[in-house]
Amino acid sequence: MTVRTTLPELEHGRARTTARAWSAAWLLILCWPLWSLLDAEPGIPRVAWAFGGAALLAGCWLMITWRMFSSRGDTPRPWALAGLLGATLALLPVLGRPWAYVCFVLVVSALAASLRPVVFAAAVVVTAVVDVIALWVLGAPFAGIWWVPLVIAVQAAVVQSLKQMGVLVARLEAARAEVAQMAIENERLRFARDLHDILGHTLASIIIKSQLAARLARTDPDRAAREMADVEHATRQALDEVRQAVTGYRTPALSEELDKAARGLRAAGIELEVSPAEGPIPASAEILLAWAVREAVTNVLRHSRAGHCRIDLSVDDTAASLEVRDDGTPPGDGSGAGRAGHGLTGLAERVAEAGGRLETGSLPGRGYRLCVRVPLEES
Ligand code: ADP
Ligand code: CA
Repeated sequence: MTVRTTLPELEHGRARTTARAWSAAWLLILCWPLWSLLDAEPGIPRVAWAFGGAALLAGCWLMITWRMFSSRGDTPRPWALAGLLGATLALLPVLGRPWAYVCFVLVVSALAASLRPVVFAAAVVVTAVVDVIALWVLGAPFAGIWWVPLVIAVQAAVVQSLKQMGVLVARLEAARAEVAQMAIENERLRFARDLHDILGHTLASIIIKSQLAARLARTDPDRAAREMADVEHATRQALDEVRQAVTGYRTPALSEELDKAARGLRAAGIELEVSPAEGPIPASAEILLAWAVREAVTNVLRHSRAGHCRIDLSVDDTAASLEVRDDGTPPGDGSGAGRAGHGLTGLAERVAEAGGRLETGSLPGRGYRLCVRVPLEES
């Protein structure tokens, strides 16, 4: 069995790993209190207590964030939160004031991850009270205490809103995935319906004509040959129709887009001159040029205030090209190219995917030019 990983899953996986790495980095705040302790040259029992407590705290913190940044965004286990709170309190007597100044960073974040908003608010108040009492007992001056509840309150507000944002993003992601799934299902339905309608009739007539040809092969070979020629014709037609169904009817056709352009420009009082390509344009390039005509003409209508527009199509052995020129007002920002909007950016992406090139810019004097060149696939 092959296990396929989709791009969004991969991106989520990376985002999860990054979030977990960042949360592990938060443990660096333990360095300051531990360093202060070692600086005071304590006895072995105090060092063992401090490092044992720090290890327990780190373990619980990693458990909490690991679950929080899991694919399902699980709520941390209560015992991990209890372990973290216990380790925090146990470290206070041994690490002293430096710990009391930083411990709430981890505590408030862990509380936010584990508790519902109302319980969280109450827990934050208790944290602030306990921290202030701890600082007071540890001999901190008033100037070193009064701001601590404020910092805790700000941190609590920030973490809570981040959590809510996370929930919103998760809901949006779920909705997006659902819409994508529905689109796939609709497409499957459309394809199944089209295939049935296209092939049902043609295959039935192919069967009848082949049977007839087989029967006539000895008695009337000429008629049998004619029937077989019909079968060949019907088969080719079915092949074309299946190809159309595969590419989807919603892809624009160049001739259709040119017709629409003529109607739209005429209605806007812009004269259109079209110079068609000398030869047939292969289907893959044609679709791209049709998108380009649609975007270019929309822009002429929206931005140019032109009186005349010219569309040149050409094709040779290596590439198909489209050039759209107008004699209107060039983009007003002085750059000659206009600010990049969604239309031209999207078109540039489509063209680049096909290995082609999009050029846009104002013409000397007046007017704007859009040129697309699409290389032809080797058959
Ligand atoms: P938009 O969504 O604004 O149409 P586009 O990417 O299609 O974005 O176009 C980017 C900018 O290029 C436009 O805002 C406009 O300033 C300029 N532009 C594009 N086509 C023309 C044109 N035919 N005449 C004048 N300016 C144009
Ligand atoms: Ca546009």
